[in-house]
Amino acid sequence: MAMATDRQLLLSGRYLLTMEEGCPPIEEGALLIAGENIAAVGKTAELLQRYPQAPRLHTPHGLIMPGLVNVHTHAAMSLFRGLADDLPLMRWLNDYIFPVEATLSAEMVQVGTLLSLCEMIRSGTTSFCDMYLFAGAVAEAVEESGMRAWLGEAIYDFPSPSYGELENGLALTEELIARYREHPLINMTLVAHAVYTCSPALLIRVAKMARQANLPLAIHLAENEEEEKSCRERYGLSPVHHLEQLGLLGPNLIAAHCVMPDDAEIALLARRGVKVAHCPHSNMKLGSGIAPVDTMLAAGICVGLGTDGSASNNTVDMFAEMASMARIHKARRRDPLPVTAQEALHCATLGGAKVLGAEQVIGSLAVGKKADCIVLDLDQPHLTPLYHPVSHLVYATKGSDVLHSMVNGRILMQDRKLCTLDETAILCQAREIAQVVAQRQTAPVDNKR
Ligand SMILES: [Zn+2]
Repeated sequence: MAMATDRQLLLSGRYLLTMEEGCPPIEEGALLIAGENIAAVGKTAELLQRYPQAPRLHTPHGLIMPGLVNVHTHAAMSLFRGLADDLPLMRWLNDYIFPVEATLSAEMVQVGTLLSLCEMIRSGTTSFCDMYLFAGAVAEAVEESGMRAWLGEAIYDFPSPSYGELENGLALTEELIARYREHPLINMTLVAHAVYTCSPALLIRVAKMARQANLPLAIHLAENEEEEKSCRERYGLSPVHHLEQLGLLGPNLIAAHCVMPDDAEIALLARRGVKVAHCPHSNMKLGSGIAPVDTMLAAGICVGLGTDGSASNNTVDMFAEMASMARIHKARRRDPLPVTAQEALHCATLGGAKVLGAEQVIGSLAVGKKADCIVLDLDQPHLTPLYHPVSHLVYATKGSDVLHSMVNGRILMQDRKLCTLDETAILCQAREIAQVVAQRQTAPVDNKR
C-alpha cells in the first residue's frame, strides 16, 4: 500500500501498455507512482482527477510500458565487443575469450559492467540477470546505476582470475549471498558455467547451495552440437539428460540457450519446470543454431529473452533481440505463425520476470508492483503510422527510441540523458581498458575455414 508520505509522480502518455494478461493498450493512459511502487493505473483524465496534486511527467507521443528484462548476459563482456567475431563457440571461447578473461581485474569488470549499464538503460532494459567474474564489482556497478539485477559469480573447475581456486569461488558466492540478502535491487544467483566446464561433483554441489539458499541456479545448457557431442562422449548422455541424472533439472534452474533439445527433452524440461533463457542473436552469431522456442512455449516452458554478452551479440539491445526472436522462428519453420509479436514481447517482459521468479514484483504494470517502466518516443518516421502498438514494439522499434527509464520509482534516464551514471567518463575508461585488452590478445583472429 502506498504511504501518504511517498513521493508521487503521474507518468502519462499517448499509450499505456501494461502487459497484464488480456489488457489491451490504454489510449491516453497513465501510471501513478508512489515511492517505489505503482499506486494506480488507468486513463490519464481519471488519474488527473484522483491525484490533482501529483507532479506530472507527460509525453504526448509517448508509449509507457514495463522495462525489459534481460535474463541472460555477461555485462562486462562489453569490453570484448568486436574483439573476435565470425568464430564458432568453442574456438571463440578457448582461443580468444578465456585468454583475455584470464587477465581481467575487478576494476576492468566494473568499468565493462558500467558500459553495458549505460547501453541497457538507453535501450529500455530495467532488469538483467548476469553471470560473470568479480561479481562483487558487478554488484557495485549495478548499485551505482540504480538498475535491478540478478548476479552470480561464474563457477567452474579451473582457476578463475577473480577468485583463484574453486573453493574460494564457492566461499565468495556465500559471502555475496549474505551481503545482498536484503538489498532492494540486487539479487544473487548461483552460477555453474556449463556441463563442459563443471564436473558432475561440482554441479551437484552448486545445485545444493542454490537449494539451501532458495536461489536460482543459472547455467549454459545444450548450446551447440559440440557441447552435445562432448557431453555424450564423456558421460554417455546429452547435456539435458546429464543434468537430469545429477538432479539439477528443477524450477530454480535457468538454462541459457537450449538450442539442442529434441521434443522428448523439451517435454522433460517442461515437466521439471526448468526456465529457459533464449538468446537468438548469440546463437546465430556463433553458428550454434536456433533454439526450438516455439515447441518450448507450446510445451508450457517459461521462456525469457537474453542478449548474452556483447562479445557474441554484439549489443545488449533487447528491442533488437525481440525483433530477431519474432522473425527467426518464422524463417526456420517457413511459417509466419511461430512466435508472434505478442509472444516475443511477453518473453522480454513478464516472461522474463517469471524466469527470475519475480513476476509478483516486476514484468508488468499493475498496482502494487515496483515502478520499473520505460517511455518510448512514438513521434518518429519509422513508427508512423501506428495501428497496433505491440507490432511496432517488436518489428519497428529500436532501443534508441526509449526516452525515459525508471527503476523502483527512480528515474534513471530522462529525455535520453542518463541521471545516475557519468557516461562520458565511463566511455573514456572503457576505451583505455580496450587498449590493454588489445595488447593482451595473444593470437590474431583466424576465422578462415
Ligand atoms: Zn552466456
